[in-house]
Amino acid sequence: MIETLPRIDKLKFRNFEFYLLRDDLLGEFNGNKARKLHYFLNKDLSGFKKIVSNGSSQSNAMYSISLFAKIKGLEFEYVMSHISKNLEQNTIGNFKFALGNGMKYYINQNRVEFAKGLCDEKSIFINEGVAQPEAEMGFKNQALEIEKFAKHNGLEFDIFLPSGTGASATYLAKHSRFKVYTTPCVGDVEYLKKQISNLDKNSNLNILKPPKKYHFGNLKKELYDIYKELLDETGVEFDLIYDPVGFLTLFANLDKFQNKVLYIHQGGILGNISQLERYKFKGMIC
Ligand SMILES: *Cc1c(COP(=O)(O)O)cnc(C)c1O
Repeated sequence: MIETLPRIDKLKFRNFEFYLLRDDLLGEFNGNKARKLHYFLNKDLSGFKKIVSNGSSQSNAMYSISLFAKIKGLEFEYVMSHISKNLEQNTIGNFKFALGNGMKYYINQNRVEFAKGLCDEKSIFINEGVAQPEAEMGFKNQALEIEKFAKHNGLEFDIFLPSGTGASATYLAKHSRFKVYTTPCVGDVEYLKKQISNLDKNSNLNILKPPKKYHFGNLKKELYDIYKELLDETGVEFDLIYDPVGFLTLFANLDKFQNKVLYIHQGGILGNISQLERYKFKGMIC
């Protein structure tokens, strides 16, 4: 039997050599949201009619669930606390493509409660960012794929990936024999620690502090700059929200790593369309 190895590229950036797991290239359905939904993807969902979730109006998870629902022939209802007039009139990015996949949306201040109210016995409720126990299975597979590649190439890794809910990093750390490092992109270190312990009480995930405080999704010249520099030097497009904070944190902590670094590309490129528009609108890029 021929062993199928995951796509892992060897890259060099700012003279630093590292490996990159290309989960952005898993297919139309890609990135860490595809890993998180893996459990549901292989499950018989014929007893269900719709999926209900909630979160922000430009979330990568929202888009991924919309695609998942389309693949599975399920309806998708999504609740957000607010939406800008601009986005409603001129739909772009994840929101536009989610609508294209048939997503129906609601605006409600108490979005979690409201979303739960939309559910009946034929509904699947998915947490914001798919941060829930069902997500674990996809990362068990991811850990196995990384192990296969490492063994095949005689490599030892230190793994790095930036966190939102922390679910991807927590579940990967649970199943990998390699050290896993992450950094918070939503909230601070304390907030992320709480999120992690809700998912795995005995987590051995290592948290690195970003070099400075970034508010989630905010526009900052140095975040755009490292995105652009990465694109120009490696030819790989990274996400504009999590990965710039990830790489700035990685480069501020190079002394922590004892093995070759394996960075996980968690997808999210579709979300860049709206984020780039915001940078342009603010006159920060041309
Ligand atoms: C959703 C997302 C994350 C955050 O993943 P968590 O499992 O919530 O920590 C990171 N990067 C990208 C590109 C994402 O879309």
